[in-house]
Amino acid sequence: MDKNWGLNVLNALTAFFGSVKLSKRKAFEVLIATILSQHTTDVKAYEAYNSLSRKFNITPEALASASPTKVAEAIRVAGLQWNKAKAIIELSNILKREPKFFEEIGKLDVDEARKRLTDLPGVGEKTADIVLLFSYDKPTFPIDTHIFRVSKRMGLRSDRNGYEKLRKRLLEVFPESSYLEAHILLIRLGREFCKPKKPKCDECPVSASCPKII
Ligand code: SF4
Repeated sequence: MDKNWGLNVLNALTAFFGSVKLSKRKAFEVLIATILSQHTTDVKAYEAYNSLSRKFNITPEALASASPTKVAEAIRVAGLQWNKAKAIIELSNILKREPKFFEEIGKLDVDEARKRLTDLPGVGEKTADIVLLFSYDKPTFPIDTHIFRVSKRMGLRSDRNGYEKLRKRLLEVFPESSYLEAHILLIRLGREFCKPKKPKCDECPVSASCPKII
């Protein structure tokens, strides 16, 4: 599987789902949204984010001094609200003390920027990659549970390969200008066709390019 294969898959996905158009989001907002999305559905994470943003400005300054009870109440719908409130406030305090943090991230190459982000408490590889791709347009490929599953079935990873090996493989296979689009459309493919149980291979838009390793 090479770039041609990746391009064919991407073309099939955009032909079926349409192209992806997203405006850039502020890095701190993406970090908070990602914390809220842990162990819950997108819908609940979205509700929690909106609820939080109605009560607080989503900035390190506003959230660093917020009451844990009020943050937890605002994000309750996403579950684990006490843990998430603690993580949000801790992160906000660190970033409040480093006002140039996000500006500096923008100047670093991907590897250095990933290292700086993953040094923050509660920020793992996936979260760092989401921030770098969605807020800075840096060439990386966040991998969630859908992308792990779809990639295995498409023959892009074996069971032994973890996050980093698969990330490098996805970076090789898809065109650099399309990492964001490929990331979003593979998740959509996983949700709507390549489901954990009973994948809908007969109707799948990338069936012709997929070895179907199920
Ligand atoms: S053809 Fe089947 S296994 Fe391959 S991506 Fe589509 S649903 Fe998944």
